[in-house]
Amino acid sequence: MDFIDRCNTALQVLWDYVRLHHTATVTSPAFPVLLAFSGYLLFSTPFALMDLIGERLPLLSKYKIQKNQPSLQMMGQCLRQAVYNHLFYVLPGVTINWFWDPSAPMPVRAPTFTQFLTGVLSCLLVFDFQYYCWHLLHHKSRWLYKNLHAIHHEYVAPFSWATQYLGGWELLTVGFWSSTTPLLFKCHPLTTWAFMLLSVWMSVEDHAGYNLPWGLHKIIPWGLCGGAPAHDLHHQNPNTNFAPFFTHLDRVFGTSNKD
Ligand SMILES: [Zn+2]
Ligand SMILES: [Zn+2]
Repeated sequence: MDFIDRCNTALQVLWDYVRLHHTATVTSPAFPVLLAFSGYLLFSTPFALMDLIGERLPLLSKYKIQKNQPSLQMMGQCLRQAVYNHLFYVLPGVTINWFWDPSAPMPVRAPTFTQFLTGVLSCLLVFDFQYYCWHLLHHKSRWLYKNLHAIHHEYVAPFSWATQYLGGWELLTVGFWSSTTPLLFKCHPLTTWAFMLLSVWMSVEDHAGYNLPWGLHKIIPWGLCGGAPAHDLHHQNPNTNFAPFFTHLDRVFGTSNKD
């Protein structure tokens, strides 16, 4: 059995387990929101611990991009904003969705490994384009910036919890694309969830404030991913590096900054 066959089998085993034991949970309209929010909490925590330990951990603190450490108060402010947005913007959206489309189809077959990978990559590329356009527009228009995006730029030196330090409109927009982009490609639920979790991970990495040697921007070749160095520069110099994940759009449209 070759590598691809093993991956196909692993996906089918995982899918059978989910389908047979957790159908009620995963078909709930609240599930994607819980998945994304748990991912945000889980992925941000190690970086927050690194921030709190700070210079007592020189092995890691040497990778910090900007030297100022976030305080507990700043972390609390971000978490309160994230909870507020979920209660007052996301929860009503989920409730409406509950009546509109109460259950997602649960196919018997898992996606093949190739379908899984191409689905996740396609969703990431489309989401990158959608957010690039939104982000550019919300910086170019003074009114949109001031009223809808400026809150995210309160921190010039980002840290992991600041990933979701957003206005409700921005979180709803991002949530809308995260849930509708997989529909464009008719993605399997497993592919959709993997895309959602990977996009949360990449967003947290963007804001972590650490240029770690094992960051995706270092692992993925040819500088295709911007990662924390690119997004950190966006927070320092907000008219550059608008794409959330990849670098090609900023390069093509002349908004790239590599300083
Ligand atoms: Zn940001
Ligand atoms: Zn921005």
